[in-house]
Amino acid sequence: MAKLEELPAEAVQLEWDTPLFRTAQRQFEQAIPYADVNESIVERLRYPERAVVVTVPIRRDAGHVGVFPAYRVQHSSVLGPTKGGIRYDPHVTLGECAALAVWMTWKCALLRLPYGGAKGGVRCNPRELSPGELQRLTRRYTSELRGVIGPQEDIPAPDMATNEQTMAWIMDTYSMQVGYAVPEIVTGKPVALGGSLFRHEATGAGVVMVTERACRRLGWRLDEQSCVVQGFGNVGGIAANELAAKGAVVLAVSDISGGVYAPDGLNLADVRAWIADHGTLEGYPDARYVTNSELLELPCDILVLAALEDQITALNASRLDTKLVVEGANGPTSIEADAILAERGILVLPDVLTNAGGVTVSYFEWVQDLGRLFWTRDEIRARLADKLGDAFDRVWELADEKAISLRQAALVAGINEVAGALKARGIYP
Ligand code: NAD
Repeated sequence: MAKLEELPAEAVQLEWDTPLFRTAQRQFEQAIPYADVNESIVERLRYPERAVVVTVPIRRDAGHVGVFPAYRVQHSSVLGPTKGGIRYDPHVTLGECAALAVWMTWKCALLRLPYGGAKGGVRCNPRELSPGELQRLTRRYTSELRGVIGPQEDIPAPDMATNEQTMAWIMDTYSMQVGYAVPEIVTGKPVALGGSLFRHEATGAGVVMVTERACRRLGWRLDEQSCVVQGFGNVGGIAANELAAKGAVVLAVSDISGGVYAPDGLNLADVRAWIADHGTLEGYPDARYVTNSELLELPCDILVLAALEDQITALNASRLDTKLVVEGANGPTSIEADAILAERGILVLPDVLTNAGGVTVSYFEWVQDLGRLFWTRDEIRARLADKLGDAFDRVWELADEKAISLRQAALVAGINEVAGALKARGIYP
């Protein structure tokens, strides 16, 4: 665990005051002048409702005990239970979870899902933990959160370095504690446990549904565009496949080891087979190696960001060689970069809209679990396309009407939904 004196000063002044939380707050402040909201409501929505900090001890394979800091932040329960992913990453902090929880609130509200935002995570290096250690970490973290999560309180889902298996362990731990099976405690779990068909593909497929809709509005054909995708995990890997399936050319993809670039287009099946055999993209022979920062500056029509936050900043925004930035990841573009891209006429499809496919199908999963009645894959895909299409059109039209960016419009639309509900409910007591 990092020592207090090693933390940046601002991280201890106000518990969640980190650069990412400040980005989320500044975006909120920039949206407020265009939203239908009074100052009392703004003041309430500035801060998360609840934040839980725990330390999670696990028995390491070598025999000793390791202790990991872990968090769960719930931003707003005005519209319903809170909802959000759990990530395992060395950079997880309370402020990062708070920023991601805030974005989840606007995202759920924009999609008109009856949820507020949450986010959690464990500060660890998941690549250094064995499957057994990951299981013990997940089960103990779930136990520590027992009082704050629940199917009507707060429903976790996968995020960076967590997956269906992680969700299965959470579901089992929670179910063992209450004494009966509770599939609706998490989403993104295996289909065998009440998971939804198409949940695994939902975020990446949704990214491409939104991109396709944007292309239509811009008068472009998706099958004439060249694309670069940063991140080849759940979101980026599926998005790259969907782009290729729709006829776009994927020139480059990357993972934590770096990127591979083929000016005439990559053979994605080959790339995937290489990763299956070697673990990462490193050493892939049939393309040119590029670093992750070089990858972002490759010439392309569409740049999909699907790795992590803070990738496009004031340092590289002026060097991007693309027409459209698509935010599959959360918070990949800094406030300063947003301004530079706007000035350069590069359109940004914002995260709260673009990667909302995941939480939307998570909502479908929760509804199916509560009703114990399951839908077909085609039904889910069609319902997702409807939800994202409706949100996209509302955002596009609001941006047009108020002459604001798509990001501002997406936030304003989300804020208006939450503010309307909070105004009607009032501040308790
Ligand atoms: P993942 O762990 O499956 O994939 C992450 C990818 O990014 C991997 O290819 C990894 O190697 C790469 N990566 C990690 N660190 C990197 C670095 N420093 N530089 C370059 N690449 C790096 O995670 P995911 O679920 O695909 O999530 C990716 C992003 O999408 C995150 O910001 C997450 O919050 C967001 N998101 C995910 C979902 C979902 O349903 N999975 C939903 C909404 C948003």
